[in-house]
Amino acid sequence: MTRTILFGATVHTMDHAGTFKADLAIEDGKIVSIGDVDIQDGDVRIDCSGRMIAPALTDIHTHIYWGGTALGVKPERVARRSGTGVFVDAGSSGAGNVLGLDTFIFRPSPFYTFAFLNVSFPGIFGFAKEVMIGEAEDLRLLDKSACIEAVSRHKDILVGLKVRAGKLAAGENGGRALEIGLEIAETAGLPLMCHVDFEPPTIETILDSLRPGDIITHCFRPAPNAPVKDGLVKRAVWAARERGVHFDIGHGMGGFSFETCRIMLGEGMLPDLISSDIHCLSIDGPAFDVLTTLNKLVALGLDLDTALKAATSTPAAILKRPPLGRIRAGEQANLAILAPGDEPSKLTDATGETLILDRPLTCAGLVVKGMAIDADGLPHPIRELKEC
Ligand SMILES: [Zn+2]
Repeated sequence: MTRTILFGATVHTMDHAGTFKADLAIEDGKIVSIGDVDIQDGDVRIDCSGRMIAPALTDIHTHIYWGGTALGVKPERVARRSGTGVFVDAGSSGAGNVLGLDTFIFRPSPFYTFAFLNVSFPGIFGFAKEVMIGEAEDLRLLDKSACIEAVSRHKDILVGLKVRAGKLAAGENGGRALEIGLEIAETAGLPLMCHVDFEPPTIETILDSLRPGDIITHCFRPAPNAPVKDGLVKRAVWAARERGVHFDIGHGMGGFSFETCRIMLGEGMLPDLISSDIHCLSIDGPAFDVLTTLNKLVALGLDLDTALKAATSTPAAILKRPPLGRIRAGEQANLAILAPGDEPSKLTDATGETLILDRPLTCAGLVVKGMAIDADGLPHPIRELKEC
């Protein structure tokens, strides 16, 4: 078996081992050693000098039910450019169509794929430029027993429930949808990811209702219904953090504002999770992908290690798959090879504000399940990593 040696990079293990300069030897899809590697005949050596190697990123808020829902996009489009190896679909499907998400999207995928099940039976069915009808506008669609049954059938892929509690997704029913979502999540024994948009309900109501381990997404959204007011972080935000609610960026087309972000970071209110919320109306901007979203946080002052953690080890822990968020000898190779770009990049938030980042992180190579992923999202033997 040929070994592939990635040498010269700074390795962010996101593990007890920490960050250091090291060579990685990979054999049969597994990391066999980290450190100084003795070169043997037949080794394929790949120069990674000046680069950093992190676990392949986890994007915990995406919409990848391509073809099954109008908002869905193909993960293949963004994986290589953003170093993403783990895609979590956040509520595109509900009890009525999660089987299709698993059968047609997840099983053939070269990536790790999981889902939050929408508490609305058809999932997000009416989301497109032409048609926008919220899946929680009609409460008859929020059927508890159907959800519980779907959770028991799809335990291997479902990592939580999703509810979109806000005017755009639930009309006037947001408060009730949130209550139903919490009740289902409680019975299922899984976390709830709750989306926030315009009230009702207010972001305070959402934050006060969520349990430890639940997730609020679009947590750095612009006003109205933002987590900040008059230049200060709202009290409910701190209370929820103290209780153990996770804060997820979920950029999307409307969920992230530089202005909110500055206030949050300024008071030390850092996100737990960085995610893109890519879908048909955000994948070509303003969100693009999780690496672009991470760059925005870094541009506003978030330190790189905290940012990487929020897109690797923290989401992996929430998925209850810690190995997906770390680099460790003896485990499968899931790697993002990152490098500071040569050109300044103009970054735009969901409100249209722009800023310039001099050297945004770019992805120079991606390994998922021990395979090199090319620009079309196709897997190749790892020795071809250089060409991918
Ligand atoms: Zn979303």
